[in-house]
Amino acid sequence: MNKYRIISIVSFTIAIILLISMLFKPTLTEIKSVETCSQTTILTSLDEPSILPDWKDGEYHDYQGTTQMLNSFNSKFPGLVDIFSIGQSVKKRDIWCVKITNENNHKNKYSCVIDGCIHGSEWEAGEACLYLAEYLLINFGKNQTVSDILNNSEIYIIPILNPDGREKDDRFNENGIDLNRNFDVHFGRIRGGSLPLGKLFGFIKIPYIQRPEIIEKLGLDKYFINKYWTNSGREPFSEPETRAIRDLMRSIGPSFSFYVNCHTAMHGIFSIVDISYKPEFETTSQEIKVLTNTLDWFGENTEYDIMYPDDFLHPGSGMIHHWVFKEFRIPSICFEILSKDYEPWLGKGPHDNLVHWMKTILPAFLYLLVNIENLHDWESPENMPPLPEGVPPEPI
Ligand SMILES: [Zn+2]
Repeated sequence: MNKYRIISIVSFTIAIILLISMLFKPTLTEIKSVETCSQTTILTSLDEPSILPDWKDGEYHDYQGTTQMLNSFNSKFPGLVDIFSIGQSVKKRDIWCVKITNENNHKNKYSCVIDGCIHGSEWEAGEACLYLAEYLLINFGKNQTVSDILNNSEIYIIPILNPDGREKDDRFNENGIDLNRNFDVHFGRIRGGSLPLGKLFGFIKIPYIQRPEIIEKLGLDKYFINKYWTNSGREPFSEPETRAIRDLMRSIGPSFSFYVNCHTAMHGIFSIVDISYKPEFETTSQEIKVLTNTLDWFGENTEYDIMYPDDFLHPGSGMIHHWVFKEFRIPSICFEILSKDYEPWLGKGPHDNLVHWMKTILPAFLYLLVNIENLHDWESPENMPPLPEGVPPEPI
């Protein structure tokens, strides 16, 4: 083969290769449009309005159901969910906490704690925690607001703080103690509804006063202010459940930004209240302003009655949300879910319209979450959360 033949074959081959590469190589415009397309896909999906968990009325989650639900969150959303026990109840049930955050985002985040069923008979308080958790998980990566929330914050949710009480449908823990009177703030004050009693000789439960109407009938409520008295334990943090939540909160550190304690059924939202005896903590005008602004928003965007810091409410002693404010100086809020039509004291579950009540309180959670940075810094919470369709629902 002469060299001209070789050159022409080589040239022909090169020409063919060049032609093929030109035909199949994506042009600059094509690359751009592919990138735009993938960006558009992400943006479009983050633009999706958030959706609500698919819950049915009457489908409550007891301790076992709650445990199963948390485990299913863990398997469905492994990059968003961490489940751990913060301690055990008197009857050795684990108190589960689910920490929800985008674990792939390693920036410094703000933290908050939300819990339910400190009173075991207040079932919807625990359900509201689960509903919020599921709402956040199913909307992450699809809805911008929820994605921002989980990129920005670590949300510690403890749906059942009092597992033994929840299992027996009882307000109290296994020792007969009202856990929401067992914290180290105004502890054991009789005027604050507390009898500083534990178990007699360490094993006999001391009965509590269950019948507020008897106190009303005798006119004693006029003198003692509080007609609901419960046993607070002999000393602060005498109970394993209160020690567990205390230790969790103390482990969080300076990122801790706000706290929500869920109850039923007073149909109200409140924060720290001006109690009738000498307060154990002072408040600044800026703190009162931020709490008032927050409560104002709840008043306008939920159906709940609002108690402002200078309103007189029940001067409960040893209550967790007062202790959180005293200990951590962060906004600390109580949600009293459900209608006033239900017995507000021993209001046992289940009730009608579970899904409705979940929707009534969701806006309040979202408002706190989109303002977590402001709340951390005690600045006015001015961010408005876009709410899903049908939220808040029409009052029933
Ligand atoms: Zn309660």
